[in-house]
Amino acid sequence: MHDDAPLDPFAGDPEDPAASLGDPGDESAPLSVTEREDVLADLADLEVFRALLEPLGVRGLTVDCGDCGKLHYIDWDLLHGNLRHLLDEGLP
Ligand SMILES: [Zn+2]
Repeated sequence: MHDDAPLDPFAGDPEDPAASLGDPGDESAPLSVTEREDVLADLADLEVFRALLEPLGVRGLTVDCGDCGKLHYIDWDLLHGNLRHLLDEGLP
């Protein structure tokens, strides 16, 4: 099973170089209210997918990777964690 997920390479790192850039277009900016609502909706969708699919033996979803253009398999817990991280930390 191929499960390398697009994790933030600086997650949990206090020396995160992106934190000091401060560009107006910086992607690590906190979420707007609208973006938070989108993420919360995604979290709700994720729970629905999981509730439907996990009993069938599906252990996660595949997502299109913007970096390499391939599909990556991400398990439910990681998907959930990524969305929670978005809510807590803003865009990776
Ligand atoms: Zn990739």
